[in-house]
Amino acid sequence: MVSPSASEGRPSLHETAVSQFRRAAEMIDLAEPYRMMLSRPKNEVIVNFPIERDSGEWEMLRGYRIQHNNTMGPYKGGLRFHPLVDLEEIMALAAWMTFKCALAGIPYGGAKGGVTINPREYSERELERVVRRFTVELGANIGPDHDIPAPDVGTNSQMMDWLMDTYSRVTSPHERQTVKGVVTGKSLAVGGSIGREQATGQGVLYSLRHWCGETGARLDELSIAIQGFGKVGSWFGRLAQAQGATIVAVADHTGTIAHPAGIDTEALANHVATTGGVAQFPGASEVPTEDLFSVACDVFVPAALENQLNAARAETLQARLVVEAANGPTTPAAEVRLAERGIEVIPDILANAGGVIVSYFEWLQNRSSRYWDAERVDQRLREQMWTTHDQVLETRQRFDCSRRDASYIVALERLSATLKSRGIFP
Ligand code: NAD
Repeated sequence: MVSPSASEGRPSLHETAVSQFRRAAEMIDLAEPYRMMLSRPKNEVIVNFPIERDSGEWEMLRGYRIQHNNTMGPYKGGLRFHPLVDLEEIMALAAWMTFKCALAGIPYGGAKGGVTINPREYSERELERVVRRFTVELGANIGPDHDIPAPDVGTNSQMMDWLMDTYSRVTSPHERQTVKGVVTGKSLAVGGSIGREQATGQGVLYSLRHWCGETGARLDELSIAIQGFGKVGSWFGRLAQAQGATIVAVADHTGTIAHPAGIDTEALANHVATTGGVAQFPGASEVPTEDLFSVACDVFVPAALENQLNAARAETLQARLVVEAANGPTTPAAEVRLAERGIEVIPDILANAGGVIVSYFEWLQNRSSRYWDAERVDQRLREQMWTTHDQVLETRQRFDCSRRDASYIVALERLSATLKSRGIFP
């Protein structure tokens, strides 16, 4: 696939992440030492390891764990299995986790990890071997009070279960029952939280509902186009449709489908589970890829990969709001064009924080061995999302700035207060 941002010279994701926080840092006149500390990750762990394919052949894989900052608490962030995973991408994603956690007010730092692999080309048994060997390679670099992975693109709860199981087996016997919190996004059977699977999509929907409350828009009158129908996009689509929104277009790596009267997202989720993608869904027409970015809709929700919304696509977008469910979906040039066109953006570190918030709830439940019901998880998620949105709006008024800048300002004010009090050692 040609990078959608190729005409913009494929902006470096890490440079984008740094420029976003530096713009906010400038607005609050953040001292240079803090800017320096937050511009680079604290630790970069790269591991090369072999796995055995089902054919008996051995293959070398490369994995990453980038620990950006742990000023506010243990490192936290997902694990991505994708063929384009590299150091640059994981560094950016790790930095965004630091700001996301600080913004959401949860006691975590930021990290991200991944393996350069196309999981669709590996059997279930091979993927189990990859996860278990990668966990052992990471060794003491992860831990329930040190660095806590979670699912991201190309990984799922089963993989988190294998990670937890492997980690506990290489831990001393008297500690084995206390290390469940080494990873979140586990299945319910091994200590996952009710509500974690849909948490990111649910949080994106709470972001949209908050915007409705702010602007007077009605969810049941909104039409929505979604890019990506994986864990985040499919949950968001189903939950939004259940509350009256009309999903007019959906795209994934297999194709783009549209139906102005609305796509049945439950049926689509079943179709994707059986066929592996949205292509050939009987309840909609297949359209060219670029049509997703010019379809008539009120809200555009990127929920796939980074750099998907480039300047050319920002030019054709019909939506009046972009809710960034994915991390880094909007290129810097597109962001400028969206602002010129008066299209609002709810930024990734705010919009998709629901996942890490419920991951935090899972970790708390693992620590206490007391498990919450669905109502408690959902109520706390909603409160935390809406409180954060209120803080961003208040900051936005104070600085007369974009939602992205305001989100970084809230995060940076918290981070810098803690950094200042702690000082540096020695
Ligand atoms: P996933 O692997 O479950 O789904 C990814 C989706 O993107 C799939 O539908 C895939 O087909 C689609 N996709 C891939 N390439 C595409 C392309 N070129 N065009 C259109 N669609 C394409 O991943 P996910 O967990 O849903 O994550 C999606 C995004 O949300 C990522 O940016 C991730 O970092 C972010 N995110 C995820 C979580 C989480 O809890 N899983 C939390 C916060 C943010």
